[in-house]
Amino acid sequence: MDIETYDRALKTKDYYEFADCFAEGCSRCTLAEHGSGPILYRGNPKADIMLIGEAPGMIEERMGRTFVGPAGELLDKIFSAIGLDTNVDLFITNCVFCRPTAPAGSGKQNYTPKKEQIARCWPFVEKTIELVNPKILIACGRPALCTLMGDPKMKMGKWEGRWLVHKSTKKLFVMTHPAAVLHLAKWPEDQQLAKEKIWGYMQYFRDTWKGKC
Ligand code: URA
Repeated sequence: MDIETYDRALKTKDYYEFADCFAEGCSRCTLAEHGSGPILYRGNPKADIMLIGEAPGMIEERMGRTFVGPAGELLDKIFSAIGLDTNVDLFITNCVFCRPTAPAGSGKQNYTPKKEQIARCWPFVEKTIELVNPKILIACGRPALCTLMGDPKMKMGKWEGRWLVHKSTKKLFVMTHPAAVLHLAKWPEDQQLAKEKIWGYMQYFRDTWKGKC
């Protein structure tokens, strides 16, 4: 993508036109060195709820849609349990559009995107928020929480399951990243506790989100 296309993407007034600007790839940050290109979203660009995760992984790269690997399957189950269909009721994007990865053997098959990488992609994430204009936001995981709130020190332990206010004045709900639950597979009791915690606050989300619009 050349510099004019970046500018055009940031000026467009239509989400699909914005997405088209990425058709030829993106080279704005170091993620372009190894990934296969931007994966912008999954779900409904007219949804009331926008969820922002961390970054696409290997399966997302293969399928060209966000949250379609194991973490995405768990995300679907969580929302389905409160009566929401992630492909209809949500628009799902990430803090960075490209997969943080490096060549096999480097020990970095998937990594949390770096601050500089998020900073380069973030104007486009903010443009996405502007164009989709959801009624509420969900920060899914710490990178989304810290970047959306502009505070690198925020901790999930304090904020998950709670409502905050984003600078756009939209209400923002904080949820645990489903990958954090999957990572507890070797510790079934901890995993069960994590699931129960999420189930508790997702019921609170179900009962409160319409009132936050
Ligand atoms: N898939 C995504 O698209 N984002 C995540 O944060 C995790 C998996």
